[in-house]
Amino acid sequence: MKKDNLIIAIDGPSAVGKSTIAKLIAQNLGYLYIDTGAIYRAITWKVLQKNIDLNNKGLVSDLVSKIHISIKKIYRNFKNYYCIFVNGEDVTEEIRNPKIDQNVSLIAKLPKVRRQLIALQRNLAKNGCIVMEGRDIGSIILPYADIKLYFTASEEERIKRRYQELKNKGYKISYKEVKEQIIQRDIIDSNRKYAPLTKTKDAILIESTNKTIEEVKNEILEIIEKYRKSEKQ
Ligand code: C5P
Repeated sequence: MKKDNLIIAIDGPSAVGKSTIAKLIAQNLGYLYIDTGAIYRAITWKVLQKNIDLNNKGLVSDLVSKIHISIKKIYRNFKNYYCIFVNGEDVTEEIRNPKIDQNVSLIAKLPKVRRQLIALQRNLAKNGCIVMEGRDIGSIILPYADIKLYFTASEEERIKRRYQELKNKGYKISYKEVKEQIIQRDIIDSNRKYAPLTKTKDAILIESTNKTIEEVKNEILEIIEKYRKSEKQ
């Protein structure tokens, strides 16, 4: 039987284009799109708002056990928007602030925090029909995903993309600052002991440096099509 409720896992470093492409793929397939980075960002937002010391693992994980995070798909002006809420408050915009970029990896490296978020993420994927992106989706959260993709792009390209994105949103940040933040996040995300950013053996590498969004999207749609055809009918 042809499987229609696929689970697609996308991993890769910061600013590699995962979100842009994952959203398009989800839209094309009529699937749900989940950006797990937004969950870590939302927690960081709350930690900073409460003035909790980021190094106080006990207080941070205690906070995580008490807050309620939800993701809602909102249809507005003929487009789907994914909004994230902390205790009912919409924090979708605030979590993109460079201050969050600066601190999020410190929160995300805490094993206690990560363990508390596994069930939430798996629950979102329980019915399939989902494109979920992050750092440990193919390795820890959804190792049983039907299709695993691992995105890469040159460091320079990633910095350029993130710098442009922040500038377009009106943030006053220099190219050098963006570069430092991305490099720092890459180091922490790839070297943490628990659930580091990693390409699993069964993940397909998607290199996007010199490709347009359309080209990467089509490449992935072809992979999905091939996967479907390869399944026993
Ligand atoms: O994807 P995004 O860059 O928004 O993620 C923000 C941060 O959240 C990452 O730098 C990483 O520290 C953390 N993260 C993670 N595991 C995920 C998704 C994001 O550790 N699955």
